Amino acid sequence: MSLLQEHVLLRHRDIPNIRDIHVYTAHGGYDALRKALNEMQPGEVTDVVKASGLRGRGGAGFPAGVKWSFIPKDVKPVYIVVNADESEPGTFKDRELIEGNPHQVLEGIALCAYAVGAEAAYIYGRGEFRGPFRGLQQAIDQAYEQGFLGENILGTDFSLDVYTHLGAGAYICGEETALLSSLEGKLGQPRNRPPFPAQVGLYGKPTVVNNVETLTNVPPIVRHGAEWYRQFGTEKSTGTKIFCLSGHVVRPGNYELPLGTPLRYLIEECGGGVPGGRKVKAILPAGASAPILPGDKLDLPLDYESVQAAGSMLGSASFIVMDETVDMVWAASKMVHFFKHESCGKCSPCREGTYWMEDVYHRLRDGHARPDDVDLLLSIADQMDGNCFCLLGEFSLSPVRSSIRHFREEYEMRVKRMGIGD
Ligand code: SF4
Repeated sequence: MSLLQEHVLLRHRDIPNIRDIHVYTAHGGYDALRKALNEMQPGEVTDVVKASGLRGRGGAGFPAGVKWSFIPKDVKPVYIVVNADESEPGTFKDRELIEGNPHQVLEGIALCAYAVGAEAAYIYGRGEFRGPFRGLQQAIDQAYEQGFLGENILGTDFSLDVYTHLGAGAYICGEETALLSSLEGKLGQPRNRPPFPAQVGLYGKPTVVNNVETLTNVPPIVRHGAEWYRQFGTEKSTGTKIFCLSGHVVRPGNYELPLGTPLRYLIEECGGGVPGGRKVKAILPAGASAPILPGDKLDLPLDYESVQAAGSMLGSASFIVMDETVDMVWAASKMVHFFKHESCGKCSPCREGTYWMEDVYHRLRDGHARPDDVDLLLSIADQMDGNCFCLLGEFSLSPVRSSIRHFREEYEMRVKRMGIGD
C-alpha cells in the first residue's frame, strides 16, 4: 500500500498510542530536541533543515530553513506561529497529525523555536478543531510535565511556552497575515507584504509562520540528518508528503508517499481506483485553489515542479478525484460559490469579481445563459487577475479558467440549453 517501509509523519499508524508521551519517547521521541539542545548551536539546526531541502507543506512550498534564516538575530521577542487553520476543501492531513502524532508536532515546534530564538509559540487552529485541540492541549500538558516545554527545557537555558488558539471558521485566516491579524484579536484580513512576517509579524515582531506538516518533518530531519531525508523524494522536492485523497475513489484517506510518486499510484494503488470501474475525468490537485487537471494526467509525478509544469500546482496536495459522471460546469460553480462565500471583502476585484462570476454560473445553471457568457467568465477572470490583494482572489480564477480550458464543450451545451440537469 505504501512505497515507505515505515511512515515518517504518520507514525501513529505503525506505533499504537504514540500520542501518549511515554510511547513517543520510547520510540525515539524528543531525542532530536535533546540532540539539538546538547550538541548543536541554533544556527546548525537551521542549516540541517536547509540542507534537507524541506519545503513548506501549507501550499506555497517555500524552503523552510531559508524562511527561518530570515529571522533577524538582533530583534526580540521572536514568535513561532503554527498554521493549523486547515480549511482548503479536501485537506485533512494536519488534523490527523494533531490527533495521531501530536508530540512530533510539538517537538518540531520546539526545534524551530530553538533554531530562531523564540520563547513563545502559538498554534492557530480552524474553529471546527475543538475536539482535536482538546487532545493537543493534553499533549502540551504532558510535554510540560516531562520537561520538554516550559522553563529551562531538559536542564538547559532554552525555554518555550506553547499556546493554542481556535479561529472562528474563516477560510481566509489560513493566509498567514490574516491569521496573524486574527490571532491579535483583529478582523481576519490579509496585510500588505512586504514587510513579511519574518521581519514584522505577530505583534509587530519577527515571526516564523509554518504549517503543521512542515514542522512535523523537523524532528526526523534533525535526528537522522539531511542526507537521510533526501533519500525520499526528488532532487528539488525532497522528503515524503501526506497526500489527502478524496472524491471518486474506493479508499479515500491520507497517504504518506515520497514526493515524485506517480499520480496513478496514489489513485489506483492507494485509493483503489474509481468505483464501478469508471474513468477519471478530472483531478483537483490542491483542493479548490489549483487549476483542474484533466484525467489523462495519471502518469504525472507528484512533486512541486512536475505538477506546475502540467499547468497546476501541488499546494497542500489535497487530491479530489472526479469521475466521468461529473458535470464540470456544476463543479466549477460550486468552487466559485465557495470563494465568493469566503472572500473577506477587503478588495473590490475579489469581492465583486467572485460575485459576478457566481451570477453567470447561476444563469448557466438555470438555463438563462447568454451567448457570450463563457467569454464573459473569462473576461471577469482576466480583469481580476493580478489585481486581487491576496491569493484567495487569484485562486478563485483557477476553477473557472481551467474548467473552460479543458471542458469548454460542457459550457457550450449549457449556453445552448442542451443536456442540462441540475
Ligand atoms: Fe479579501 Fe479576496 Fe481581497 Fe484577499 S483577494 S483581501 S480574500 S477580498
